Amino acid sequence: MKKVLLIATGGTIASGYTEKGLAPKIAAEDFLQYVEDYKAFCQVEILQPFSLDSTNIYAKHWLKLAGLIEEQYARYDGFVICHGTDTMAFTAAALSYLIQNSRKPVVITGSQKPINLPVTDARTNLLDSLRFASDDRAHGVNIVFGGNAIAGTRAKKERSKSYNAFSSINYPNVAALCDGKTVFYIDDRDRVVGPAVFYHKLNEKVLLLKLMPGMDGSVLQRLFPYYDAVVIEAFGVGGLPEYGQVPFYAEIRRWTDAGKIVMMATQVTHEGSDMEVYKVGRIIKEDFQLMEAYDMTLEATVTKVMWALGQAEGGELSGKPKGLGQSNSPQEPEDFEQWESVGGQEHSGGCGLAERFRRLFYKTVNHDMLLYTPGSDGE
Ligand code: ASP
Repeated sequence: MKKVLLIATGGTIASGYTEKGLAPKIAAEDFLQYVEDYKAFCQVEILQPFSLDSTNIYAKHWLKLAGLIEEQYARYDGFVICHGTDTMAFTAAALSYLIQNSRKPVVITGSQKPINLPVTDARTNLLDSLRFASDDRAHGVNIVFGGNAIAGTRAKKERSKSYNAFSSINYPNVAALCDGKTVFYIDDRDRVVGPAVFYHKLNEKVLLLKLMPGMDGSVLQRLFPYYDAVVIEAFGVGGLPEYGQVPFYAEIRRWTDAGKIVMMATQVTHEGSDMEVYKVGRIIKEDFQLMEAYDMTLEATVTKVMWALGQAEGGELSGKPKGLGQSNSPQEPEDFEQWESVGGQEHSGGCGLAERFRRLFYKTVNHDMLLYTPGSDGE
């Protein structure tokens, strides 16, 4: 019998009606009575670190959840996090970066309707999640919702009310769950070797800026003091407007000269960025060696920038990320071998912060990026 830890964090699945609208109020202990079939394949223990509408969940909570799983990792075969749907894709992406190389599944689920209503998607989603977390083929961080398992870096909430709220963007679903059966489309657990690796630092000073017609660089000028990185959601395959009192070009120079990260992405959901296609993109990319997110989701891009910046700034240098788990021959991520040779000193040797960031960002994690080709991006 598998042992699963259920971590409840609030969201609609746990919500009830209050005078001021739906808010989390159903205790996690009450969930299991609605999904009793789980007893056929797993034992469940419950933790409830907080109870929030996911609108109120951010980096502090992602670190808390990753820390909890790290603490409990050896005791369970799998983990299910119940979470509000609104920011679930951000949490799934963040946990994909904070918990890497895990042969044990970490499943995130929730629902569009509370679990105690007679007609609800919550019971199916929770039972499917417990089943997925107990499956020998499952590993790493995934969202299970609406009958699909979606890689944690590829999920996006595309519908605000329907039961099939989440889609997998630019990548196939990992599995489909129906009538108690799980069909794996991506069956690659054997490729996970070595221990799970947990990270403990995110740099939250990351701005996501959506371009709109008429915007010029003055917005970046004003926000310059407050952020270490900006992800720019450009139009189409990517580029920056050339007009305005304060051109973007001058502001990109200011940000990059100051050692800040400028990451280009697209506001188009499907198919990704490709800044070299148009002059409005290629010139600025080449002049500043701008990085781009290619086929990554915005949720994954933002959280990966937070994670990569946190690590590049020396997040784990005082204590290397802890590998936990299943192997006697721990395999450190290549980035850390390299950092050791830098001696933990920023801007020393041949590997400064920007270069360390670039290497971390362009390393594929949990299927997050397919379109980047090593060596093709100004390196
Ligand atoms: N506002 C809710 C939340 O994200 C929505 C949901 O759970 O579906 O917590």
